[in-house]
Amino acid sequence: MRFFSSLFGGPKGADRKQSASRKKRAPHEGVAKCPSCGHELEKFPRARRKCPACKKWIHRHVDRAGNLVRLVTEQQAQEHKWSELNALLETTKKSGSKHDVAGVLRLHALEVFKEGRDHLALAQKAQRTQILASWPPGGIIGRLRIIGCADSCPACQEVIGKVFTVEEALKEMPIPPKNCTGSTKRPEQHGWCRCCWVPEIDD
Ligand SMILES: [Zn+2]
Ligand SMILES: [Zn+2]
Repeated sequence: MRFFSSLFGGPKGADRKQSASRKKRAPHEGVAKCPSCGHELEKFPRARRKCPACKKWIHRHVDRAGNLVRLVTEQQAQEHKWSELNALLETTKKSGSKHDVAGVLRLHALEVFKEGRDHLALAQKAQRTQILASWPPGGIIGRLRIIGCADSCPACQEVIGKVFTVEEALKEMPIPPKNCTGSTKRPEQHGWCRCCWVPEIDD
């Protein structure tokens, strides 16, 4: 968990409390400077912030233990995040389960989504990997049902509750729908499909 949270801007919840009690502090040596324009900041920012001089984003490059390493630009933060995500995918492919690989692929899709880029192919790859890991064709479970959320978008509502054979699911890839608009209630989830497959058990 710690590794995942370090990827996404530091510990949250219980982790945050723990690190506060350990009194982790920003490095005191040197001066906090904007990585873009060199403007001297009064202190090391405790979160991502905009430089008061050049108005560019200043990110905190945090190591896996949650310690601040240095201040970086938006682009450096982006590059760092993706090198970590790609390394995570490689190690998971080598030593993790197929479920783990599906999870990391979904994480990749979510990051691409958050960056406002086209994440459909990646999200589908995550779904496909998940199906193959959990319910491989020819296995005990032959049919799958789509479940979603109460506030899922109209495109998702169309497919929620539908049952597919495993083969059909892999071929048709009905989730995420191509025209998914995500949550109808939460704007930050606009375009992010939260539908998933569950095994259909016959009575
Ligand atoms: Zn600046
Ligand atoms: Zn949707």
